[in-house]
Amino acid sequence: MPTSLVTGGAGFLGSHLCDELLRRGHRVICVDNLETGTLANIEHIRTDTFVHLNLDIIEPYFIDEPIDFVYHLASPASPIDYLRLPLHTLKVGSYGTHHTLGVAKRHRARFLIASTSEVYGDPEEHPQRESYWGHVNPIGPRGVYDEAKRYAEALTMAYHRQQGVDTGIVRIFNTYGPRMRPHDGRAIPTFLRQALQNRPITVFGDGSQTRSFCYVADEIRGLIALAESGYHNPVNVGNPDEFTLLELAETVIEVTRSKSEIVYEALPTDDPQVRQPDITLAREILGWEPRVTLRDGLTRTIEESGAEALVGTAA
Ligand code: NAD
Repeated sequence: MPTSLVTGGAGFLGSHLCDELLRRGHRVICVDNLETGTLANIEHIRTDTFVHLNLDIIEPYFIDEPIDFVYHLASPASPIDYLRLPLHTLKVGSYGTHHTLGVAKRHRARFLIASTSEVYGDPEEHPQRESYWGHVNPIGPRGVYDEAKRYAEALTMAYHRQQGVDTGIVRIFNTYGPRMRPHDGRAIPTFLRQALQNRPITVFGDGSQTRSFCYVADEIRGLIALAESGYHNPVNVGNPDEFTLLELAETVIEVTRSKSEIVYEALPTDDPQVRQPDITLAREILGWEPRVTLRDGLTRTIEESGAEALVGTAA
């Protein structure tokens, strides 16, 4: 039975990854200090092949049993979190990644870091290929996240080249599904919450900026395929179907049969105008591509979460 360590395993993506690894017969060690995640995401897991360790990976940490795979997902991920936790975000990306790479090195485990499409910044190249180096503002408010991830990628490659650690880098594009937090500030949970309450849907700018949205089950399948591939350079894993924010709002209204109207708000600083992965590489080396359409994914999210969870209570 292989053992996988999942940092950030009590978060949105991490908890789905734990579920899928357990389903595939792995033993799973989830390391999470619950900074932005929650025990509610993992409380349904009742098996002795799963353990949660409440550790802050900014401090050095050690695991006393063999590990085959390290999935490094711990990091604040939504703008609302990293704007509230700028120093923490930089420390998780640097110290946290360093300590987690150290664990992978000691255990001779395969290491996969969850990087992000944000390493491309506000791109001049569209869609974004892995070979594109990015257009990032290092000193803007979002720089703490973008640069932490860029540093973490550099650190990962240094451990690979200098220390011989078997590493991989996944550049995750916007992912959605059950267990997103209703108030985490990202477009899909915000629109769903507003639509289910028949409240105005708030679109930033004129809504012409584009995003592409990957259903969580597709994303997790891609992560595991990459971890098991032995490939070292970054790979985009996301859904290339591109929508404007306005189209997304209209689709959410349709799927939820909402009476909401659309209103427009000021664009946040350094909000990228376009975001779309080129997934040629993932298709070639992993045979991976997404299967779930936006409409189906939104329907599954509503059915699996229940309207109550999507509306939430906290302001
Ligand atoms: P999330 O906030 O739900 O999960 C992150 C988890 O990391 C949380 O459970 C949090 O408690 C934990 N964590 C944070 N700091 C920690 C620390 N110091 N020690 C231990 N645990 C800590 O976010 P998510 O959406 O699940 O994102 C997971 C990863 O995927 C992140 O690295 C993120 O950058 C990346 N990613 C996500 C998306 C997306 O659309 N969700 C897109 C691109 C990249």
